[in-house]
Amino acid sequence: MSRGASVIVAGAGALGLSCALALADAGCSVTLCDPLDAPQASAVAAGMLAPVFEVVLDGGGEADLALLLSARNLWPALAASSGVILDRAGTAAVGPEAWLAEVRARLLGFGLRGVELPRTMLDEMTPGVAPGLRALLVREDWRLEPRAALAALRAAAQAAGVQFRAETVRERGAADWLVAATGAARDLAPELSRLAPIKGQILRYPGVRGGAVSLRSEGAYAVPGEGGLALGATMEAGRADTAVDRTSAAPLVRAGEALLPGLAGAAFEISAGVRAATPDGLPLVGPSREPGVIVAAGARRNGWLLAPLVAQVVTAHVTGRDPGPYAARLDPARFAAGETA
Ligand SMILES: Cc1cc2nc3c(=O)[nH]c(=O)nc-3n(C[C@H](O)[C@H](O)[C@H](O)COP(=O)(O)OP(=O)(O)OC[C@H]3O[C@@H](n4cnc5c(N)ncnc54)[C@H](O)[C@@H]3O)c2cc1C
Repeated sequence: MSRGASVIVAGAGALGLSCALALADAGCSVTLCDPLDAPQASAVAAGMLAPVFEVVLDGGGEADLALLLSARNLWPALAASSGVILDRAGTAAVGPEAWLAEVRARLLGFGLRGVELPRTMLDEMTPGVAPGLRALLVREDWRLEPRAALAALRAAAQAAGVQFRAETVRERGAADWLVAATGAARDLAPELSRLAPIKGQILRYPGVRGGAVSLRSEGAYAVPGEGGLALGATMEAGRADTAVDRTSAAPLVRAGEALLPGLAGAAFEISAGVRAATPDGLPLVGPSREPGVIVAAGARRNGWLLAPLVAQVVTAHVTGRDPGPYAARLDPARFAAGETA
């Protein structure tokens, strides 16, 4: 399709906003629709842009790391054009020496080394870490403030000419293209039937500031943020509700207190979002078998990290350019053989 195509983007989360902005910048006439009547994963997320620790701690190989690093490398340009503020101070793995030795070995397996933080330096960067724990700093993992980033992307999209509508999209209608960036929803393309929900609850401690870097431990991460320290997050596979459930969040509370004992007794709020996951952990990005529909969903734990790469691939498909080296791995048709209705 040539430049100047008319595009409806359904969904104003990290993926939909990034796609809308990139499409408008590429000369498309873009309308972004979202009823914004339900909690959105993008708004509750921790905002980590963490290619290294996501692969090292959550699983993945060289090819996954390359893909996630490529996505992260697109962030500085997107941040500069949209006003999103990136925190590039880094992330420290913090834990007992036995666990840290495993992390160190996994990093080395990817040819990476963290910086061993002497305890005095850790205390200076992030006061309150439990005695006896050690830390390994990785500069590659950044973060952003999700709500501020959503606002900045929205303002940049508006300035680029994107029209916003507070409505649910049901079909492509007269537009040349429909981009389905609808998170865990599964209505707008048959490929979305492959998405499975993973509920995530995240705690925010309004009275706790957190330190200069994000922390990753064996059972939790602790991220400094505007609304106070964020402690995340539960991974509740198969759950698509956003109800606060203190029982399933209890192990997270304990892991947080083991990392930062000062959290014991501190007041916190819980919010919940639903991640959309595919069988291989990578999103569905590209043409649907439904004519005129492009899918951009299923980013699991890494929607913020992946957003600029998803936007780049979607825009290439709409404008008829080469969608790049990751298009095949993200192709929504890759599960077609085993697809169920
Ligand atoms: C607790 C938690 C912590 C997380 N932490 C991180 C992190 O640190 N880093 C990271 O990269 N990722 C993180 N994630 C994952 C990340 O939040 C998601 O991958 C990402 O937000 C998905 O963005 P999205 O735009 O696909 O979906 P969403 O943000 O869910 O947005 C989808 C939007 O589509 C709209 N919609 C649905 N159907 C329709 C329709 N028919 N028409 C119009 N609009 C529709 C919805 O209203 C919604 O606003 C976290 C997730 C959770 C739950």
